[in-house]
Amino acid sequence: MALICSFCGNTESPKVKIIEGLKANICSKCLKICAEDFDEMDVSDLKSLDGILKPHELKAQMDEYIIGQEEAKRILSVAVYNHYKRITAKSKINIQKTNIMLVGPTGSGKTYIMQTLANILNLPIVIVDATSFTEAGYVGDDVDSILRKLYIKAGRDLSLAEKGIVYIDEIDKIVSKGDGHKSVDVNGTGVQQALLKIIENSEVSFTLKDGGFDKKEITMNTKNILFVAGGAFIGLEEIIKKRKGKNKSAIGFGIEKPKETKEVKEEESLNEDPIIQDDIINYGFIPEFIGRVPVIVKINKLSKEELKDILTKPKNSVIRQYKELFKLDGIKVNFDRNAIQYIVDEAEKKNLGARGLKGTIEKQMYNLMFELPKYNKIKKFKVTEQLLKGTKNEVEKTLEDIAKEDSINSL
Ligand code: ADP
Repeated sequence: MALICSFCGNTESPKVKIIEGLKANICSKCLKICAEDFDEMDVSDLKSLDGILKPHELKAQMDEYIIGQEEAKRILSVAVYNHYKRITAKSKINIQKTNIMLVGPTGSGKTYIMQTLANILNLPIVIVDATSFTEAGYVGDDVDSILRKLYIKAGRDLSLAEKGIVYIDEIDKIVSKGDGHKSVDVNGTGVQQALLKIIENSEVSFTLKDGGFDKKEITMNTKNILFVAGGAFIGLEEIIKKRKGKNKSAIGFGIEKPKETKEVKEEESLNEDPIIQDDIINYGFIPEFIGRVPVIVKINKLSKEELKDILTKPKNSVIRQYKELFKLDGIKVNFDRNAIQYIVDEAEKKNLGARGLKGTIEKQMYNLMFELPKYNKIKKFKVTEQLLKGTKNEVEKTLEDIAKEDSINSL
């Protein structure tokens, strides 16, 4: 007899299966809908906000995964700690939240810091991409979807969702083109306005599928939701340079210097110079938006030394992950010093930050992962610079040579 899905009545065998424990049937379509809705956290231990990690403890945990970016880690640890205090303490003073902007090159850890925090914290966090949003009425997600995601992440516990954290990535892509840019992007301003609505303390309503197929309206208060935004802000240096130039001549330091020293000084001071709100406004943000995200944290370009540490030191570093994959096959794989240096140098050339590390070796590591399990006898393998630089043939040849040598040795 054909099974009938208990949720939608679908009888399309074999796509309908019995859920034994529930004495019900479910079809693959309904299962998919449930799976999407179940992208939520286990709420069982979330209601107690006791035993909060202190800023230094939070940072110490982040240090296990995130290399460098000391300032960002310190500021975010304090911000999260204060956030906990605000939402748990019974203070008579209304402590306002301080939203944060992370500014720094691609692949330097902005999203990763937030992902790591999400794993450490006892709060719902969602990570969204600003480029997916449009003003209401245009094709694309509307910004309310952020709150919908947070609500789902909080296990549909409204009061918990209202204390959550939202990270908006690629925030620099929703600029109206200001000083540094020539044209005007009206849509960008519209999205900023729409985001403003949820970032500031307000009641926002959105609809949600209610269990089955009915929709229900939820009204969420955003007063206690901490927003962190991040972006690469390409071209921001020019805006800072311009501001600094103006300031210099205003106080009489605009005297022409020999070109070389001037350039070196500029480079140095740009690295040290804090980014101010005006810079972000000149980049193309409306002042009201920046007013709501007052703390700007600079995320540094990763140095070669840091790239090397990222490759090898964190608990789940790229190298450790590859080693683990081989270990599960009973093979001990090591990377020699030159191989590590080669990966770092290539990643640095790509200018993609830490994202360039895996990309540099991924293809060749796949070749190795394809070929190595063919050789039951090879239990140890060293990844060299030559192997990484070579093609698929280099992998085959190296393995054949090792196998040959082993069989001669065992004669
Ligand atoms: P973005 O700054 O563009 O948001 P991501 O945080 O997405 O960059 O970084 C991409 C990947 O590179 C991360 O998933 C992580 O594996 C690695 N990574 C980047 N920066 C760091 C860092 N400072 N420490 C450790 N890993 C990092």
